[in-house]
Order: sequence, then C-alpha cells, then structure tokens
Amino acid sequence: MLMFNRLGEFMKVTKITETALRDAHQSLIATRMRTRDMLPIVEELDKIGFFSLEAWGGATFDVSIRYLNEDPWERLKLVKEHLNHTPLQMLIRGQNLVGYKHYPDDIVEKFVEKSYQNGVDVFRVFDALNDVRNMEKTIKVAKAQGAHVQGTISYTISPVHTLEGFVEMAKDLDDLECDSVTIKDMAGLAYPADIYKLVKMLKEETDLLISLHSHSTSGMTPISYYTACEAGVDILDTAISPLAWGASQPPTESIVAALKGTPYDTKLDLKLLNNIKKYFGDIREKYAGLVDPISEKIDTDVLLYQLPGGMLSNLVSQLKDQNALDRYQDVLEEMPRVRKDLGYPPLVTPTSQIVGIQSVMNVLNGERYKIVSNEVKDYIKGLYGRPPAKINPKIAKMVIGDEKPIDSRPADLLEPLYDYYKTEGEKKGLIRKDEDILTLAIYPAIATKFLSGEVEEEELLSPKQVISSNNEFDVPTSYSVEVDGDIFDVKIMPTGYLNIEESQRSPKGDVEGGVSSTMQGMILKLKVDIGYKVEKGDILAVIEAMKMENDIESEIEGTVRSIFVDEGDSINAGDILMIIK
Ligand code: MN
Repeated sequence: MLMFNRLGEFMKVTKITETALRDAHQSLIATRMRTRDMLPIVEELDKIGFFSLEAWGGATFDVSIRYLNEDPWERLKLVKEHLNHTPLQMLIRGQNLVGYKHYPDDIVEKFVEKSYQNGVDVFRVFDALNDVRNMEKTIKVAKAQGAHVQGTISYTISPVHTLEGFVEMAKDLDDLECDSVTIKDMAGLAYPADIYKLVKMLKEETDLLISLHSHSTSGMTPISYYTACEAGVDILDTAISPLAWGASQPPTESIVAALKGTPYDTKLDLKLLNNIKKYFGDIREKYAGLVDPISEKIDTDVLLYQLPGGMLSNLVSQLKDQNALDRYQDVLEEMPRVRKDLGYPPLVTPTSQIVGIQSVMNVLNGERYKIVSNEVKDYIKGLYGRPPAKINPKIAKMVIGDEKPIDSRPADLLEPLYDYYKTEGEKKGLIRKDEDILTLAIYPAIATKFLSGEVEEEELLSPKQVISSNNEFDVPTSYSVEVDGDIFDVKIMPTGYLNIEESQRSPKGDVEGGVSSTMQGMILKLKVDIGYKVEKGDILAVIEAMKMENDIESEIEGTVRSIFVDEGDSINAGDILMIIK
C-alpha cells in the first residue's frame, strides 16, 4: 500500500467504495431504486476498480418487500452475477441484521451465511449503541465464511463520546479479527479536525485498514475527506455525482479529481466514470418525483443540533405548508432532549427512529412520554444494549417502573426462531427457498404479504403524503416523517371523530365501547379474541406505526364483543378495531 514516486515522494492510492446502489439512493430517493435500474450499469461499475460496491443491506431489504414487490435475495444474486472484479458490500446492523430489533443467534448465523452464499464479499457491521457485544456474532460468522469484515464506529458527538473511546472500540473490533474499520459519520457532522485526529490515532494504534463513510449534509465533508487522506485513511465512501451531495455522499468524480496530483491519488479513470454518471443522470430523472428538495440541500442545522438532516426534512416541509413551523422548532429542540434522556445514543438505525419518533410523539401529544413506543420501553430495559450514558432515572421510572434493566448481551435472552419460522412458513405455503424463511423471520408481518404475492409494486410517484385539508381541525393531522431515507406517514386523530378517508374494513366514529387507533399503521398482533374478558390496561393489540410497535390497551373492563381487523391489516387513524362492552 505504501508507495513512493520516482522522486521518492510518499504516495498512497486512496481506495473508493461506491454507494450508488445502496446509501446514495437510500439518502436521496427513499431507497426506491429498482433492481432493473441497477443491473444495466453494474458491469460498467465493475470496470472502475472500486475497493467495493455497496449494493445491499441497510433499508434496501425492507423497502424491497414493503414497497417494490422485489425479492432482496434475488437482487443480491443478480448484482453479484454482473460483478467479476469488484467486491460486493453490504451494510448490516449487527444483531439487528436488516431489521430494527435484535434477532436470535440462529437467525443471525443463517442470515450471514446466506448473504455470503448469495454474493456479499464485504460485511460492514455496525451497532447503533456501539455495543460490540451486539456485533460479535455477525462478525464471527462472516469471518468464518471467509468474507472481508469491516467493523464500524458509529460516529457521534455528545458529552460522553471521545476520540479515545472510539479508538478503544476499534481495538475491540481488531481483537475480533475485523479486516478494516469504518468511521460511520451518518449525519455528516464530523469536523475535519476531529476526523484528522481520529484517523491518525486509528492508524497509529491499530493495523487495520481505515475507511471513512460520511454524508454531505453539513457541507464540511469534502474537507473531512481531505484531512482523512492527510491522516492516512485507506478508503473513502463516495456516490456517483447524480446521486451525490445533500443527504448523500460526496461525488465520486469530484473526489477522484480533487485527489489527482496529491499523494492520495485514487488512480481511477474519470472518463470511465463519466459513462456511469450519464446513466445515473437518467435514473435521477426517472426518480425525480421522489427527491425531497430538502435532502438535496446542505443543512447546517446539523452543526447546531447534531441531528441527521434527513430526520426532520419532510416534517419541515409539511409544517411549512400548514403555517405551523412553530412545531418544527419544538421537534427540533425535543430531539436532543430525548437523546439526552436516553443516554446519548448515536442516531443511526434503529436509535434514530426510536429517538426521532418519540420526539415527534412527545411534541404532537402535548405531553412528554404520554405515549411511549414498545421500542423505547425495550431500550430502557437494556434490550438494545448498553447506552453510552446513564438513562434519565425519572424517565426510566415513568416508562418501566421498578423493573431492573438487563446487563447481559440482549440476544442471550432470545430463543432460537429459525425452526419456528420454517414450520410456520411451510405450513402457510410461503417458503420456496431457505432465504424465504429468513425474510419471514426478520419481517413476519410484511414478509407474509410479500411471500404470498399480496404486495404490489408502488407506482413511481412522490411518496409524500398529501396533507388532507381537513376543515374540522385547525391543526395539521397528517405528517410525513423522514428517517434515514424512509418516509413514514403519520396521522394524528382525536379518538372518536370521523376519519377523513373512508375504509371498508371497519366502522369508524364514536361507537360505544369502540377501541380505536390514534395512529395509522398495521396490526401486528391481536392479543384477544371474541368473548375474552379484559381488564383496564390489558393489551388488546399491537400495532406497527412508523416501524415502531405500540400497544393498544383497553381503557375499560369488559368482554370483547366484535373484532373488525386481522393481523397484517393496515389501519387508519380513527379506525375502530374492536368493541368491548
Ligand atoms: Mn450512510
């Protein structure tokens, strides 16, 4: 790797990871790029000489089955078939794999094996809390396959995070035999001077290849990339220019050009890159309806609030339309408070969703922690791992009472699930290949729909929820919240009022004994059946809203008389789910 030119000057080839097929479209077009729009260009991408092509993992798995009616395993296999030289890279959320919660070790093991067999060469493994215990299983299985394993530092700024702490983490990853380590600056908020110091310390104190992954959000990133080069970074993440800037990575061609004539030259061919640029220029046009203008821009709020710009971008535009920007400021200020309450987790999936959605709930409900998602409860119980700092004891008490948080590795508490989903899936006729069992285990509700052919490919329109111009209420009742490139539609309805949209599934309105949902979402579990006697506070159903799970509790004592919904049904805010008398 170390080279000197003919004059004896230090030279080092900087390697590039191209993110067009994963993070770039996740950051700019809500992860909606189709496999058929990727395949025609993969062979050209293969000619460039990238360190790796990031093409799988992150939100791509979920979005494929939820919105595109595409089998993510099929995408992986097809992209891999077109690659002869370039390693295929995936982003994997440690014990969370490509989901939003921990899965048991048997699922992790099978998932990593199948990912490798279908074409993943480089596993970039992270944990939202930087709790290495949550990364160990994934790393070990991937290493056992013979893959390149890239451990990840989820970079964040807080009163409890230090550069020394990140270096200690990298040493732990080194002990687990990772081949490289990436600094994952998911909000693009790292300061160039800090990046310089961190890369230098990592190069001095470990023998690992060091990679830098950042987003252009704050505007500082190209400078960070240069200081990283000066400190000896080995790999930089970039996106081909039509899918670059804003919430995405810095442009590949610009970084390649900027490093020419420096000791950190990438040696990549700008002419070849230009063919790829043209192709993605057309793709960008095709998906133009999905590009949120805010995610295209530089957002310097990130410098003040240390929040990923994308987390709030859509909410901002919707609130603007409603002349309700005062709520934006409220949410913006609530997020750092929630993050502090929860012990300063880095904001990356799933903690970005957990903190983001809780902040929105706290503001929109007019009372902090009045409604708490099951994920926040689990987080406080320690089921996501060790928070970087102590959780606010008042909030912990309010949410979980006197229950004592666990101290062990969260997945140690999880029972194996592979055989269960194999049997279940086969019984329902959903399984055609082993990979389907994993899809089902990771997303039981949505995968059941996908595998039984009930998901239709979303049309290429703007996914932004049209705000209903509801005359009855002065406050906005619909919001779109964008988190990590995924857009969640949120509707808030006063319980018992008529909903704006008609649904054929269930009655609405002020029905005596009617149990309704205050949020739009999907029924994950029904906990009762007709004839069940329930007490006040009993859990009747669990709904998934904005990817968080929320319990619907009974507000009265009585007997379940009717149930209007099934597991897997989509519901609107205000829908009556059941009647209790
Ligand atoms: Mn990223």
